[in-house]
Amino acid sequence: MTISEFLERVQNAEPLNAFISVDETDIREQAKEQRKGMLGGMYVAIKDNISVLNQPLSCASHILENFVSPYDATAVKKLKYAGAIIAGKTNMDEFAMGSSSEYSHYGPVKNAINPEYVAGGSSGGSAVAVAAGIVDAALGSDTGGSVRQPASYNGILGMKPTYGRVSRYGLVAFASSLDQIGIMSKTVTDSARILEIIAGEDARDATTVPEPVPPFSQNLESQAGDWKIGLPEEYFTEGLSTSVRQAVDTQVATLKDAGATIVPISLPHTEFAIAIYYIITSAEASSNLARYDGVRYGFRHESDDLLEMYNRTRAGGFGTEVKRRIMLGTYVLSSGYYDAYYDKAQRVRRLLQSDFSNAFQSVDAIITPTTPTTAFKRGEKMDDPLAMYLNDIYTVSVNLAGLPAMSLPVGTDEDGLPIGLQIIAPAFKEETIFKIGTLIERLKS
Ligand code: GLN
Repeated sequence: MTISEFLERVQNAEPLNAFISVDETDIREQAKEQRKGMLGGMYVAIKDNISVLNQPLSCASHILENFVSPYDATAVKKLKYAGAIIAGKTNMDEFAMGSSSEYSHYGPVKNAINPEYVAGGSSGGSAVAVAAGIVDAALGSDTGGSVRQPASYNGILGMKPTYGRVSRYGLVAFASSLDQIGIMSKTVTDSARILEIIAGEDARDATTVPEPVPPFSQNLESQAGDWKIGLPEEYFTEGLSTSVRQAVDTQVATLKDAGATIVPISLPHTEFAIAIYYIITSAEASSNLARYDGVRYGFRHESDDLLEMYNRTRAGGFGTEVKRRIMLGTYVLSSGYYDAYYDKAQRVRRLLQSDFSNAFQSVDAIITPTTPTTAFKRGEKMDDPLAMYLNDIYTVSVNLAGLPAMSLPVGTDEDGLPIGLQIIAPAFKEETIFKIGTLIERLKS
């Protein structure tokens, strides 16, 4: 697509509120150079919690207003080397906390299929930018489902790589032991190509792993008969809507007819996932977000008294949901409660991880719905944090266990809203996901 086509698309899609910033001059500069490389000329949007040199980085928060990134995130630098055009910064839930992209200082993102509905979150802007055809692909971040859930709500693909696969250097920390940069795209091939580029060990992120990065995009073919796939019984119970269940069942039946072996499995600690996810992520967030005190970055509420300056800056700079997480995190880490909440949650996290390693003794991959329902109406869950949190019921365990997973579109419900199916693989087996994803694409067409 030409630059003018791109800019026209940005303008036409303005009501969706998918972007926080698009720098036309910078895009023209980038396009002037011949974009060579595997991603030559591909337009890729970047979630606004990932650094792009000399571009705003707000995390959709008032507290980072007017902050400009002094460097490129490793993933962004690699995209640029591979010839991609960095096409703007996308709207999101503030500091990636949320499931609807309504908790943004810049206003809510609207669903690409039906603007009355939420975009999903927290990478809602990235999902909508891809689904609405404004860009070819986008980066998001996934701490508990923030790439997969909005991908599912907008009918595109969302890939969350293994923890340690993609460098987090330049990704603003939310919950460091779970955060991972992920990819939103329209095809498995694009997802595989982008992961191939952005993955790999990075001296600037000690949690990246010296695992070789396979040429994922060269290796997409397989037979359904090659795969043994597990269906966890705990993911197909109450709360799962009929239309989502039917779409996933139908897809699984198609794989089975094509020769795949489908087996029921159990992930017995699933019921604790949401509780431990919100304890661990809030604890990590309360510590990570302590740095926003008005001294070093962004917004500052001036006062002669230092403590008052901190207090007012944080009180006025953070939104409601972020404050809720900081308070929750501070509480679970406080003396007297640490053992009862934080320490216990870490122990259960270990059990959850064992559930997956046990399951992967007998299956190559696990299939689940991505979310219990399709997108909900805007405004519907804004004042009900628990209902909002329950959206993540099928996605958070994957982050707690550090595994790779992808959401793929598998049809629509009676209102025409997209449904997502999630494929989960063992650590560093993204290749399995891409191959099964390719089979699903084939079987559909
Ligand atoms: N919705 C989840 C939360 O609010 C997931 C967020 C994310 O993955 N960044 O924590």
